[in-house]
Amino acid sequence: MIIVMRPDHEEGDLQRVVRRLEDLGLRTHISKGEHRTIVGAIGDERILSELPMQSFAGVEAVHPILKPYKLVSREFQPENTVIQVNGFPIGGQQIQVIAGPCAVESREVLEEIAEELVPEGVHFLRGGAFKPRTSPYSFQGWGEKGLKFLASVREKLGLMVVTELMDPRDTVLVCKYADIVQIGTRNMSNFRLLTEVGNIDKPVLLKRGLCATIKEFLMSAEYIMAQGNEKVILCERGIRTFETETRNTLDISAVPLLKQLTHLPVIVDPSHAVGRADLVAAVSRAAVAAGADGLLVEVHVRPEEAMSDGPQSLRPQAFRAMLEECRRVAEAVGRFI
Ligand code: PEP
Ligand code: MN
Repeated sequence: MIIVMRPDHEEGDLQRVVRRLEDLGLRTHISKGEHRTIVGAIGDERILSELPMQSFAGVEAVHPILKPYKLVSREFQPENTVIQVNGFPIGGQQIQVIAGPCAVESREVLEEIAEELVPEGVHFLRGGAFKPRTSPYSFQGWGEKGLKFLASVREKLGLMVVTELMDPRDTVLVCKYADIVQIGTRNMSNFRLLTEVGNIDKPVLLKRGLCATIKEFLMSAEYIMAQGNEKVILCERGIRTFETETRNTLDISAVPLLKQLTHLPVIVDPSHAVGRADLVAAVSRAAVAAGADGLLVEVHVRPEEAMSDGPQSLRPQAFRAMLEECRRVAEAVGRFI
């Protein structure tokens, strides 16, 4: 439910509204905009439908939230969520770039890659220690050893670590090393895992499922937020279509659509969307133009030796060129990288 306060309401009116809702066990969120203050309330639908909020002093209007997702919706919170990760904002004017190899391979290679990223102004290093591979015979990641490599590169170069959690049993372990916990495409509908990361105190980067609709994607984000973790970053990474020239099909319209439907930051992973390095730059430019708050890009110093996803990994030089082009697009749409 959304309660719109009158422009001339008094602070006491607002407090009485919030207290009444909270006394009934409902969760509230206050948004103070330039012209209007609104209170979002969620909880038991039966209680909400019977509440006479309209008759409270200072209340102008009461609207139900019709969408199945509540906390993630823009109705609930009109202003953008900006997530601070050690002082680096995600969801603000700045477009954040998260880059690195698909999988953490060795400490040396990881550091070599990270050293190429730092001069480009990148603050976030990605790399999987637990890899969701299609084949059980493919490299599955180094587990904790890989997490330690990430942490030691962070220590040395000051990059924030973004890495995937696949199994609720590894939550404590991954949280020990990660600054942002990634939930991969294949686990977008793993509700047990979503509930688990809803209870951690780290931002969660949630990737859209291979065949997930926007509504299903947002319901998965709602699972995380319903547990109390409000730091959710949505990532469009391409969906399955009939097309086989590219690994997936980037749903570019998902970016402005998600920005319309939700207040959460929306980033784009061009690498997994196209699956080929030669298309990554163009798709990244499109993502920035469409309003993405960030990019998640696979970069490797020697893609031909990469233990996974070499064909879609950019060499540092190509990554630099891509960033330069994206910076120009960002400027054109009033943002910066
Ligand atoms: C990844 O980013 O490492 C990854 C496995 O991507 P996705 O879950 O989008 O396939
Ligand atoms: Mn990959």
